[in-house]
Amino acid sequence: MAGTKTCAIIGSGIGGLGAAIRMANKDYEVTIFESNEEVGGKMGQISEGGYRFDTGPSVLTMPEYIDDLFLLCKKDPRDYWNYKQLDPVFNYFFNDGTVIQSFHGKERFGEEIASKTDDDAASIIKFLKDSETKFNITNEVFMQRSLHQPLNYLSMNTLKGLLNFGKIEAFTSLNDSNRLRFKDYKTVRIFNRFASYNGSNPYEAPATLGIIPHFEMNMGTYFPEGGIYKIITSLAQLAEKIGVKFKMNAGVDEIIVEGNKAKGIITNEEKIDFDVVISNMDVYNTYHKLIPSAIKPTKTLNQERSSSVIVFYWGIVKQFEQLGLHNLFYSDDDANEYQKLFKEHSIANEATVYVNVTSKMNASDAPDGCENWFVMVNAPHMKNQNWDELIAKTRINTIEKLNSILKTNIEPLIDFEKILEPRILEKAGQSAFGSVFGNSSNNKFSAFLRHPNFSSRIKNLFFCGGTVHPGPSIPLSLLSAKIAVGMVD
Ligand SMILES: Cc1cc2nc3c(=O)[nH]c(=O)nc-3n(C[C@H](O)[C@H](O)[C@H](O)COP(=O)(O)OP(=O)(O)OC[C@H]3O[C@@H](n4cnc5c(N)ncnc54)[C@H](O)[C@@H]3O)c2cc1C
Repeated sequence: MAGTKTCAIIGSGIGGLGAAIRMANKDYEVTIFESNEEVGGKMGQISEGGYRFDTGPSVLTMPEYIDDLFLLCKKDPRDYWNYKQLDPVFNYFFNDGTVIQSFHGKERFGEEIASKTDDDAASIIKFLKDSETKFNITNEVFMQRSLHQPLNYLSMNTLKGLLNFGKIEAFTSLNDSNRLRFKDYKTVRIFNRFASYNGSNPYEAPATLGIIPHFEMNMGTYFPEGGIYKIITSLAQLAEKIGVKFKMNAGVDEIIVEGNKAKGIITNEEKIDFDVVISNMDVYNTYHKLIPSAIKPTKTLNQERSSSVIVFYWGIVKQFEQLGLHNLFYSDDDANEYQKLFKEHSIANEATVYVNVTSKMNASDAPDGCENWFVMVNAPHMKNQNWDELIAKTRINTIEKLNSILKTNIEPLIDFEKILEPRILEKAGQSAFGSVFGNSSNNKFSAFLRHPNFSSRIKNLFFCGGTVHPGPSIPLSLLSAKIAVGMVD
């Protein structure tokens, strides 16, 4: 497959792997440079003390974008990885003892909400239908193509999308929209939470983000056999098979730019020429660290950053029947939670806690009789906080919350612990300010304010991954790679 033109990919996150596979299919000789020892970036894995944890994503939607890469290489995806659809999807726990399950499909979730809250099934069905409409309007316009090429606005589908712009609720906040739609504060909290899927504040971000439940509840949520990291190992295997070279522990220090053209990269003091450079690094850091003297798109780069996370990876020497794969323990006061996160850059004492237990699906992820808990609390991006204090306080509050709802004492059950926090995301993942998702979507025009997949000033320089258009998550990072590679040549 080796061609004569060469391409450097900076970073082996899901977007970088997708771009590498697509560029190799364009007959480029592709080399991935990764500063860490392992591939995958935020989609990493911990295997220690008999426990296995996926370090980042846990909710998989739109697996077809992963399959597409195998099909592009004329391989059967099922020879590399496989996945199961989840139903039920989530367990939602509330302080008053209510437990609500989310299901695949509008009607079943509608019935569940009607039986556990003051809302009726019709309001859920309408919400999920509107969510689907938002997807149909925005998919072609905002997700499948660059927003930054005027010719893209000339297609019929794009024009139709623009004419229906009102239906995507771009000028109402997600919380305002949910408050109008639902009577019960539990339902509001369930649907507000989706703003945090891309690190945004439901009290500010547009109700357009109500599209996310469409992916999870209408289209389906999946679990890969062997866990999320299996996606990364399968894609890395495919990439190697089609000739992509991997340089690990090879952080890129500079993109060489001559006469407004990217000409190569510098890594470990070695200068290497390339015809095309694609950065999968956080776009803020790409500009500030790798091309510091280039003119920067400051309006784009200086948007409000998304939130971060604190994740406790706990080995638990007990099994909990009440838990499923995905569990959310809601705060009683989400206005305070998001106020603390986005305005005070701190964490509420009573914050929503997400617990993911992959050993429910993949028994070998924990020793017999034990479970692997991925316990996540949203955290602010870095802004001079005292992180040691904030993490210690959050750990105590999280344990108290889980103890009270699960009626247990967790502390003595924890026999393994590792912590992911903003400082690690910033240092090891080179995510600017420790943000997980690049810029937040709090601005009503955020879709237009994500960095494009190309540089308008430097030829042959492209961008992919969760910090650029169309946005973060596994499927959108893969779409970013598809759009970026589609623009090369
Ligand atoms: C805790 C957590 C939970 C999440 N949950 C979900 C979820 O449930 N579902 C979902 O879809 N998404 C989720 N996400 C988001 C998702 O993980 C990301 O949007 C996606 O993985 C981003 O991929 P990326 O292509 O931008 O690359 P990243 O994963 O950001 O990887 C970039 C890579 O570039 C490397 N790099 C950086 N700078 C350099 C350099 N100078 N030289 C060489 N290499 C460099 C880094 O080491 C890293 O490996 C979650 C993320 C986290 C952290």
